[in-house]
Formats: sequence, C-alpha cells, structure tokens
Amino acid sequence: MRVVDQSEWKKHLVCCLMTAALLAALPNVSAAEHDAAWPAYTPDANDPRSAIPEIYMWDLSPLFASDEAWDEARLKLLVQIPGLEAFDGRLADPAALRACLDLYFQLHSDANFVTLYANRRQSTALSDENANAMVQRSLAAMDELMRAAAFIRREALTLSPEKLDAAYAAQPALAAYRPYLDNLRRRSGRLLSTDAERVLAQLGDNLWAEIDLNEIPSPLEDAFGALLTEIPWPEITDEEGEKVQLTLSNYGLYRASTDRDVRRGAVEALFGTLRQYERTLAATLAGQFQLDVDYARARGYDTALDAYLDKDDIAPEVYNNLVSTINAHLPLLHRYVELRKKALGLEDIHIFDLYIPLAEGVAVDVPFAEARTTILAALTPLGADYGAALAEGLDPANGWMDLYPHQDKRSGAFSASVHGPHPYVFMNYQDSLDDMSTLAHEFGHALHSDLAMKSQPYASFRYVPFLAEIASTCNESLLSDYLVSKATDPAEKAYLLVERLESIRTTIFRQTMFAEFELKVHGFVEDGTPVTAALLEKTYRDLVQRYYGPGFTLDADDGLEWAYIPHFYYKYYVYSYATGLSSGIAIADRVKTLGEPAAKAFLAMLEGGASAPPLELLAGAGVDLTKPDALDAAMKTFGETLNEVEKLMEE
Ligand SMILES: [Zn+2]
Repeated sequence: MRVVDQSEWKKHLVCCLMTAALLAALPNVSAAEHDAAWPAYTPDANDPRSAIPEIYMWDLSPLFASDEAWDEARLKLLVQIPGLEAFDGRLADPAALRACLDLYFQLHSDANFVTLYANRRQSTALSDENANAMVQRSLAAMDELMRAAAFIRREALTLSPEKLDAAYAAQPALAAYRPYLDNLRRRSGRLLSTDAERVLAQLGDNLWAEIDLNEIPSPLEDAFGALLTEIPWPEITDEEGEKVQLTLSNYGLYRASTDRDVRRGAVEALFGTLRQYERTLAATLAGQFQLDVDYARARGYDTALDAYLDKDDIAPEVYNNLVSTINAHLPLLHRYVELRKKALGLEDIHIFDLYIPLAEGVAVDVPFAEARTTILAALTPLGADYGAALAEGLDPANGWMDLYPHQDKRSGAFSASVHGPHPYVFMNYQDSLDDMSTLAHEFGHALHSDLAMKSQPYASFRYVPFLAEIASTCNESLLSDYLVSKATDPAEKAYLLVERLESIRTTIFRQTMFAEFELKVHGFVEDGTPVTAALLEKTYRDLVQRYYGPGFTLDADDGLEWAYIPHFYYKYYVYSYATGLSSGIAIADRVKTLGEPAAKAFLAMLEGGASAPPLELLAGAGVDLTKPDALDAAMKTFGETLNEVEKLMEE
C-alpha cells in the first residue's frame, strides 16, 4: 500500500495506516479493530467543516501542497503551452510527432491536476470566492491548451497509413499514443475544411473537440436552465396542511409523500405550471434538437444518433437494440405497476403514485465503519486484488474520501481522478442504507480509474462516458445481492428488493423511455416535421401510456413531463444510464455464476481504460450490447425480484 500523505496532521495515524496495510493484504479480515482507531462522528449537514475530524476529509496534497503551489503550477502551464507551436507543420517527422505528443499529453495531464484541485477545493467551500476564481482560472488554462493543440489533430489526420506505420517503427514510444491516434483517424472523413471547422467551433459544435459533449451548454440549454429558475413555482400544501413553496429541489420529496393529496398536489402543480410555459420550453428543446441535427449533417452523418454515438465509437444498433429489447419486456413493468397498485391499496394508479416507497423504510443506521466492512465483504467475488485496492480507498486515513456533509458543501456524490495520485471520492454520507449503496457505487468509478491508470499511460486511461456507469452499478448490484442474502427481517428484505425494482424501473425502463423520446423527436426534426409543444406532449403521453401499461391511469398533464428534464439537452446521453445498469447487472450475474474467470475478464475491461474501442472492451467482459443478452439478464433480475416481492406480500 502506498502511504500517499506526508502531512503533519496524519503523523499520529501511523498505527492506523499499518493496520490498514495488513487489512489491504487480507481484505476478508474483519475491520473491527481497525475501525476502533477512527474518531467517532455523527454526521450533521449543518455542522461547519471544522467540526468534522480531519481524517474523514480528503487529502489534496498528492495534487498540490497548497493553493500557492497550485497557482505556481497553473502559471507554469500557461508558460509552457506556447511551446506546442514549435511543432506546428512538423508532425510528418516521426521524432517531432513523438515529442509533440509527449508535450501535449504532459500539459494535458498538468491541466487536469490544476482543474481537479480547483474543483475539489470549490466542492467543499461553495461560497469561497477564492475557490470559485480558481475554478475559472483552471478552465481558462484548459481552454488555452485546447486552442493551442488544435493543429495536432488536423495534422495527424493528414499522415497516410504508410507514413504512420513508418513513424511507429522509427519511434517505438509512439505506441503509447496509438489508441489516441486510431480513434482520431477513425473519424477523419468527418473533419471539414479549416474555415468550416472554425465556424462550427465558434457556433459551439463540439462533435469533433476533445472535450465531453456536454461540458459547454448550448445557448438553448442555457435559456432552458434560466427559464426553470425564473418560473414562479406555486405553493402547495404539505402533510401538516401548511402552505409550502414548491421548488425543483423539493419536488422529488413531495412527489414521494405517503400522503396522496400531497404527492398529487406536487405533481399537478409542477405539470400545471409547465403547461403555462410549454411553448417556450418546446422552442428551447426543438432548437437544441435542430442544432444536434444540423451539426450532424454538417459532417455528413445521416442522423444525429449516428453522429453523437460515433463520437464515442458506439454503433447505433446498441441504441436500437436497447429500445427494442426493453420494449419486449414492458409486460414486466406493467406487472410492477399492478403490484404497486395492489400494495398501496389503490383503485387506480397515477404518475404521482410511482415514487412512494412500497415497503416501510428500514430505520437501520449504517455508520461508515460498518458500511466499509459490508462493502468489502459484498465485493469479495471481484477477487483479492480488487479487495485490496478497495480496502485502501475505503480507509479514511488514505485521503481518498471526503465523507460527511457540512455547511457550504456541494450536494450529491461523485468520483474524480487524474493520472498518478489516488482517485477522489466525494460523499455526503449520512449513515443510511442508500448512502452505503452510493458509497459502493462511487467506489466502482474510483477503482475503474485506479485500475485503468495503473495499467495504461495517460493518453489511454480515461474511459469514455458510455463505459462509466458499468463498474459503479456492478458494485451496487453485488452489494444488493449480498444484503438480500443476509437479511433476516422480512421488512428489511422487502425494502431491499423494492429498492432494486425501483433502481431498474428508474434507470433502465425510464431512461429507455427518455431515449425513445429523444430518438423520435430528433426523427421529427430530421423529417422536417415542425416540433410543436402539442407534438412533444402527444409523443411523451403515448410513451408513458405504453411503458406503464393498461393498468396505469394517464392524467391530462402527464405528457408535459419532458418539459423540465435537463437530460434531453445532453445529446443522446440518457441511453447510457440504461445500458450501464444493464451491463452492470449482467456482469454481476456472470461473476456470481462463473466465478473467478468472469471477475478477471471484468477487471481486464476496467484496466483497459480507453486502450480499445468501448464495445470491444465490454465484449471482453462478456457483454455484447448489440444483442439482447445483457438487457435480458437485467430484465430477468427484475422479473425474479418481482416474484420475490409478490411472495413476500402474500406472506
Ligand atoms: Zn455513477
């Protein structure tokens, strides 16, 4: 185990680190004695950061020792970026090509250190002006690098295959850049003239850029976001009969209220308000989809689907396979809707009845130390090496995690990493079962990055978004199975099983419904059919009715739900939630039934990073998303879970 931190405050934890080293070597050993060394803390989101023992905060010193060191690195980066110019026009020379890519990826990695540090500083100090300014400065540096490096992609594409082969022979170190160059050249036919590229870039097209598609919102997405914040949401009545202001952030809470009047009121108030703005909301969405289609066509793609999936090298049949396979399993979702109706004792079931918990929430407290032990045990099927890396990351003394919520900290959870130091895991852990599941999820991401960076050079370690949600959901799935297998109390078991149903309903069924909506509406744009509010509403209503089935009662405004979903602005992104969870479940199944060989194949996929096309890496783990199998496996899990819940309900 690497002891990554030399800072003063951790010196007294030497014993703790040594225990952790033993534990890392023996991941099955109970963590109990080790936990005893950690200070007690009860999470409270209203605490200031200073109230939390330091051991539960991440350690940013492997990135930079201080804000001053960060600023020095940023300035050094800005000084070095113009050095790329020296290679402009010289990439036909193998030595120059290699030196240029060495420098480019070094600067890219440096820029990532700078942005990661600034973002991490900001995420635990949202109102800190200095941290906000650091984020802005880091983004500016990244932007400058991208601009300075634009010639590399253009020139690399002009090299003939023979010339490139000769370059690989003359400069063996170029092999590290082969996945990058292959991926670049794969789409060489889509690159336009310099002038055309300049115009498209100015208009905001990033189909060709080396950044995430959704990193920079379009003006239409900005307008949509601004409208949502300006809409005067009405007041609704809460469980105590008090008037409360509805907001987009408390909507989910009231929609899941066990008081039917409250949840109906919340949904009707939200949809009714969206109705008043439906033409503006239709205009921003239609405008976004028109842009997607225009950018795709500018590069000679037939459809926006082809273009946006091609960016990550995903075949459109993956998308079509998802939609058709999930449609074939809709009777399972219809059965679940009927089950909810019965369990809740309702005569008719509406959109506002879909989110309330079916089983009583189990009031089990899962303090972090217990979650850690449970997660380590649940993930043992992934093997000893995985367990060792997991034990290292889950040891607070190693500085991977920022565990507890506090004032001025961003909400939610995520994992982020650069190449070299350990990954970072951001949590708002509050001792619940859900929090434990989130922790297992985020560690799926973190260990994916950790394994990829240990096996791949910088240029090929960062996996594409399409692969991102597989490791995380595989972990969640293994944890869920483990907890169900250990549950002795029927109420707890029912709770866990319903959680699994809900996760599949909201991530596979609902996101596939979104994906189908996105496909249909892009199709209207591509056919030249005017996309009006009425057409969007009808398209969405039809999908809701078909997905939830004949037992579901559709209300007048249900077709307006599309209007507040930001994900429709993310350019064919939502489907990857559904394929991610399906693949995660399918892989967890394989690991349970086939054992070590399946686990090894999965870890090889994680270690692969971006060294091969994503579908090829995934196929190595036994999942072919151009065929129904993995989706069928997830649906089988859903069906079996339904059976168990039905049985528990009868008892
Ligand atoms: Zn995730």
